[in-house]
Amino acid sequence: MKILVINAGSSSIKYQFIDMESETLLAKGLVERIGETAASQLTHKANGTATEIKKPLENHAQGLELVLATLVDEKIGVIKDLNEISAIGHRVLHGAEKYNSAVLIDDEVIQDIKDNIPLGPLHMPANLLGIEACQEVMPNTKNVAVFDTAFHSSMPDYAYMYAVPYKWYEDYRVRKYGFHGTSHEYIANETARVMGKDVKDLKIISCHLGNGASICAVKNGKCLDTSMGFTPLEGLVMGTRCGDIDPAVLEYVMDKTGMNINEMLNALNKKSGLLGLSELSNDMRDVARTAQEGNKKSELAINKFVHVVKKYIGSYAAIMNGVDAIAFSAGTGENRDDIREKIMKDFEYLGVDFDFEANKNFVRGENFKISKDSSKVAVYIIPTDEEMSIARQTKEIVEK
Ligand code: ADP
Repeated sequence: MKILVINAGSSSIKYQFIDMESETLLAKGLVERIGETAASQLTHKANGTATEIKKPLENHAQGLELVLATLVDEKIGVIKDLNEISAIGHRVLHGAEKYNSAVLIDDEVIQDIKDNIPLGPLHMPANLLGIEACQEVMPNTKNVAVFDTAFHSSMPDYAYMYAVPYKWYEDYRVRKYGFHGTSHEYIANETARVMGKDVKDLKIISCHLGNGASICAVKNGKCLDTSMGFTPLEGLVMGTRCGDIDPAVLEYVMDKTGMNINEMLNALNKKSGLLGLSELSNDMRDVARTAQEGNKKSELAINKFVHVVKKYIGSYAAIMNGVDAIAFSAGTGENRDDIREKIMKDFEYLGVDFDFEANKNFVRGENFKISKDSSKVAVYIIPTDEEMSIARQTKEIVEK
């Protein structure tokens, strides 16, 4: 069985084409700048070579047609016939309260995604474009929606409710939903696998530290709590998002500056986080380098980032009554030993015997243990693979 995984953005389509018998990646690529016909292009990687194709693309359907033509291309393709694509798995941001797992897409699912656009106004319309393009171009192929919120649906009410007037939940479904669920689920399962244990017997803290960043407390294979909230703005310090903040700041600064609420939310989402504090960059590489060169604001940005991650790890160990494993993943979590070291320092009280040497000498792109064998709490680098997780869930659904 071969599965196409689609992650559609407002002007882009990221894809991976995976052979599920051996779980091997056959091809992957990115269609960019859809709608800007003079600039639109596809970058396709297969068999160790990358190919760039420039072609005017007016909409997502045309982008998808180009992807499919490339997959069956005589020279750079990987299949002979489009019938070899058994199903298509779509990354969808928001499943709201209704979807606690992946689902075969039908008219009702499409309508629900449309109804939930207000919960994810940037991502949901783009996700929908990707699905509709597939339905248009490959009408006989099954489509599966894999929701970024689904894994977190196991949170108990005292974790997902905000302590605000109850009516806000009853009338408007205001609550914590959490995101990066596909990634946290993958990281937790993979951590259990490398430990040779059943995920149902473990307490795992999964740290997805990328440009967007979140942490998840996974107890017995289920999410107990996670750091992102009603939107991805809550929780950790991110590339450009502020994370946890006293909401009273909003009115105070709006009053001082004359900003309206849209400008304020834009500042909190796009101009805060590492970028806001460093005043230089949202990219951890730039911020860490300039901090090392002595830039005080960059140093502060790093210290704040680390401080908040530590707070979440401590609090998640508390709510799970302990922790068996801590896993680091995504751009910063997988690649930055300096940040991992700062985070994991001073966790001896929890039973962590961190292996500072292994942490420095990690192998990029591989599952890697960075705690000593004597450590009560195992610490790992677990490279996330959201596409593989989406492909697995898609396979499961279409086989049912
Ligand atoms: P997202 O998927 O949320 O856009 P990523 O998971 O790609 O983000 O993470 C981006 C962050 O990871 C950036 O801050 C970047 O500095 C850091 N990062 C990514 N790749 C590397 C690398 N090879 N070496 C060091 N840092 C990296």
